[in-house]
Amino acid sequence: MNNFTYIRVTSLLDAVNQAVTDPNSTFIAGGTNLVDRLKVFLDQPSQIIDISRLQMQGIDTMADGSLRLGALVSNTAVADNTDIRRNYPLLARAILSGASQQIRNMATVGGNLLQRTRCPYYYDTAFPCNKRQLGTGCPAITGINRNHAILGASEDCVAVHPSDMCVALTALDAVVEVSSPQGQRQIPFTEFHRLPGNTPQQDTNLEQGELITAVILPPLSWAKSGVYLKIRDRASYSFALISVAAAISIKGEQIQATCLALGGVAHKPWRATAAEEFLVGKSADVATFTEAAEIALQPAQPLTHNGYKVELAKRAIIRALIVSAQGGGVV
Ligand code: SF4
Repeated sequence: MNNFTYIRVTSLLDAVNQAVTDPNSTFIAGGTNLVDRLKVFLDQPSQIIDISRLQMQGIDTMADGSLRLGALVSNTAVADNTDIRRNYPLLARAILSGASQQIRNMATVGGNLLQRTRCPYYYDTAFPCNKRQLGTGCPAITGINRNHAILGASEDCVAVHPSDMCVALTALDAVVEVSSPQGQRQIPFTEFHRLPGNTPQQDTNLEQGELITAVILPPLSWAKSGVYLKIRDRASYSFALISVAAAISIKGEQIQATCLALGGVAHKPWRATAAEEFLVGKSADVATFTEAAEIALQPAQPLTHNGYKVELAKRAIIRALIVSAQGGGVV
């Protein structure tokens, strides 16, 4: 860990003003991923701004029926919230499928969005890595890439985004609220994270010094039938090989609306928009779901060791859609 200046702020304005005094600043709240990275010199900030005392711990219903999650609400509090369990159950289940109870108690909404890939080459500084130092190469492309991306990767990086919560938020059309000294702006969740392209060092579209203040969930009555299916190497405390967040609205036999997002497949939570568009207006049966799964994985480009993910993702999509069509619940 390098030497840095530590500052604890007590107002949002102080936080964002302090951040622009040093372009090598970082914010800390729960610290559940940042501290790991500090310890192995992946992050070497000269200034750490502790925002954990700011008043961003509320879960509030807005006038339009949206639910506003403050950036400092713990993952545990989100998963335990009655409104979320009732109206957005796939979000609660996604959170409970990740990490451990102790980590969920510390981890925050804002921090969850900013956790970085668990690509082992990224964390092992004995290897080169374009995400750590642009231009050094990507050993995962020719190395052990069983856990890496099958969608949206580039020749510079094939890492996957690690968060379960973000897959759920992508499916639910969430919006990220951010602040800076210039004011506040909102970023649609699907545009918050980035694909690697030739800038794999950048995970998000946040500007330097911008602070996440909240995540907003729009009202979505049919999300009550939502499911989160996570497939991993062991039953707990493990990142997704494949995950699916899905919800489906059916009238009669026909699909009225749907949302479908995948985790463990790309550098960002992956919204399967082509499959969603295919599903609307079709009958809600296994044949339709199977075709949607084919469409969702059609652009997949597996690496040497992760071809299994293509078939696994298809089966997970079909399973998630079947359960959602039956009213949701634990998959
Ligand atoms: Fe680094 Fe990305 Fe390659 Fe992993 S996949 S070694 S994070 S460049």
